[in-house]
Amino acid sequence: AKQRGRDRLEVYDPAMQATAHDRLTLGSDLRRALARGEMRVVYQPIVDLDTGTAVGAEALLRWRHPERGDVPPDVFVPVAEESGAIVEIGAWVLETALAEVAPHVPTDRAAPFTLAVNLSPRQLEDPTLVTRLQGALRRHGWPAEQLCLELTETALTDDLDLALGVLVRLRATGARIAVDDFGTGYSSLTHLQALPIDSIKIDRSFVQGLGDHRGSERSTIARCVLGIAGAMDLEAVAEGVETQAQLEALRRLGCRRGQGYLFSVPVPADVLEATVLGGPRP
Ligand code: C2E
Ligand code: CA
Ligand code: CA
Ligand code: CA
Repeated sequence: AKQRGRDRLEVYDPAMQATAHDRLTLGSDLRRALARGEMRVVYQPIVDLDTGTAVGAEALLRWRHPERGDVPPDVFVPVAEESGAIVEIGAWVLETALAEVAPHVPTDRAAPFTLAVNLSPRQLEDPTLVTRLQGALRRHGWPAEQLCLELTETALTDDLDLALGVLVRLRATGARIAVDDFGTGYSSLTHLQALPIDSIKIDRSFVQGLGDHRGSERSTIARCVLGIAGAMDLEAVAEGVETQAQLEALRRLGCRRGQGYLFSVPVPADVLEATVLGGPRP
């Protein structure tokens, strides 16, 4: 906390939303961040809830600002989206994730390993998105079927026509599509049903209340979302699994995939390699 004026105490909260001024300076710093090597990618395993084995990992972006230290993606990703910088940054995340993960996934792995990457709605407007994606897959010899592109519910339904057109072309490459933060938007099921998607990710806020008596409303939503996934023949992935009670509740509800601190926090590529992937390609 720092003293300001006579009687005002300002508490610095690192998780606070960026102010307008912050956003301005962050925006110009962001443009240089990639070139200066301030960005990196970490990976959070996605596990089979029945066996506990990792069936994939989600790539998550990190930015260490030279003066501010770690800036959370919830703060800087919206800034990068506003300026359009997310198009370049997003392409870099895909390239980096494939470069870091592909060489370490054994081809004889019993369960195919799926790499999940987040896509911003701004990237859907990038006319080079599909060719860039195909180029990256080819360069790293990664099967398209083992790449999952995560798009938030609102990104997909804000401009349904745009989303539909791009999704059809993305899916034609063989890549999978996941609806991120499912249940937090206001999209109708009619809209979702129109889209070519493979899986939905149940938002952390609905997983939180599972397995504790006071969370009955939220567990109702989790149950509904799993019901929808089942009816639409989609895979469901639970986000933010933190406790054994949540894991057991999810299992009882028939959810088969999850990620969260109970299994692992997001880790750098070398840690993922050592703990989950099991060495270089034979
Ligand atoms: P998201 O895609 O919903 O990612 C899941 C977030 O939940 C991550 O936060 C992850 O670290 C966090 N998380 C995972 N397990 C747990 C848990 O058990 N408990 C709690 N409390 N949190 C958990 P993170 O890495 O801070 O990312 C926040 C958001 O920033 C992401 O939400 C995503 O919307 C965005 N983001 C991150 N990387 C990228 C990227 O490369 N591109 C784009 N467009 N957005 C990204
Ligand atoms: Ca995600
Ligand atoms: Ca999510
Ligand atoms: Ca989220």
